[in-house]
Amino acid sequence: MRKLIAGNWKMNGLLAELEDVAAISEAVAAHPSVDTALCIPATLIRPAAGRFADMAIGGQDCHMAVSGAHTGCVSAEMLADAGAKLTIVGHSERRAAQGESDADIRGKALAARRAGIAAIVCVGETEAERDAGQAEAVVLHQLTGSLTDDATGDWLSVAYEPVWAIGTGRIPSVEDVAAMHAAIRAALVARFGAGGADIRILYGGSMNGENAASLLAIPNVDGGLIGGASLKAEKFLPIVAAAASA
Ligand code: PEP
Repeated sequence: MRKLIAGNWKMNGLLAELEDVAAISEAVAAHPSVDTALCIPATLIRPAAGRFADMAIGGQDCHMAVSGAHTGCVSAEMLADAGAKLTIVGHSERRAAQGESDADIRGKALAARRAGIAAIVCVGETEAERDAGQAEAVVLHQLTGSLTDDATGDWLSVAYEPVWAIGTGRIPSVEDVAAMHAAIRAALVARFGAGGADIRILYGGSMNGENAASLLAIPNVDGGLIGGASLKAEKFLPIVAAAASA
């Protein structure tokens, strides 16, 4: 399976930062064996999407409706119209700050499919849930509720992102990542049959140039979702290079 390395710029990036997108796009072109994407603020999608061919440009969220009275929201059709090829849905920052439920996230994933773009569906446990021995149960519950019945690997990826590892510089042990990704894979195969083996499972949470090679070598780690290290080419490129040699 080709690995996918997707960046998440979160609420960072003005038009002036398009030069950083350009630098990242040029750098990742050296690794055509890896699928790469950059999920940037909605305001930058149109100027970025037409300009950089080596890397998919995506959004970070979408509304489940096509259009309507949803002030401040962006639909999947609007993302596609702006040139996005994918969107993240269900990031833990949105689950926590916007109170998004698994059903909301399932609706957003369906919206992405309806609009003809790919979806990265995020799941992950909090530190308290891990400490309580509930990590796998929490993640598998989120997975069941957040995925649509027609999930296939050509438009959907899962990102396992332990909440306590996001932006903290802490990562789970190789054994813990391996166990969680194996559990997610087993759940995908149980639900979707052989097609569940083709759905990429990304790891996200403080992945960087130093730890990427060991994380990406773990069975069932089919790529990464990268926050902080995706903002600059010199931090993102070593992760893409690690994926190319994994
Ligand atoms: C994220 O927010 O999805 C993420 C993985 O962030 P970071 O890489 O900064 O931990």
